[in-house]
Amino acid sequence: MSVGVYPGTFDPITMGHLDIIRRSCKLFDRVIVAVAQGFSKERLFTLEERMEMVRAAVEDLPRVEVKALDGLLTEFVRREGACAIIRGLRAISDFEQEFQMSVINKKLTCEIETVFLMAAAEYSFLSSRVVRQVATVGGCIKGLVPPVVELALQAKFNRLEHLRAAIKP
Ligand code: ADP
Repeated sequence: MSVGVYPGTFDPITMGHLDIIRRSCKLFDRVIVAVAQGFSKERLFTLEERMEMVRAAVEDLPRVEVKALDGLLTEFVRREGACAIIRGLRAISDFEQEFQMSVINKKLTCEIETVFLMAAAEYSFLSSRVVRQVATVGGCIKGLVPPVVELALQAKFNRLEHLRAAIKP
């Protein structure tokens, strides 16, 4: 059975990520979405919130599992019995960092391959950061994220608005 690991911070999961997950299911028998903690200062959602949103977004995909990623990615991949790391490539700007990471991972564990899937044209501009920025200023993110994320962003920013109003002198 072939297993692929799709790592990232997914803060939050977007339709671009979901497209990569769906397409990965055609290549692997099982796909594990590995959600990394990331640097807390830059994170909007907690690890638990991010995992919950990914789980809700992939609930129609029975061969996809969602797990927390801690420690070294190559160790995680080995522990899970996976043969490949899955990454999405949006633009040339992604390439350099992804290339470096794949070379380092290959050095750490030579039997693990990194598989790159090109972003779908309609999502090639889309990143979690753009979603966070648009949502922060109340912009419409419909169609860019799964419905569960849209609701979570609305709830987060409504709560912040209420808090701001409450502490206004
Ligand atoms: P990281 O936390 O590693 O910066 P993300 O959690 O944002 O990355 O994304 C995880 C993976 O998904 C990365 O390989 C990234 O390039 C890819 N990715 C992000 N957004 C898209 C998109 N819109 N289309 C295709 N791949 C994407």
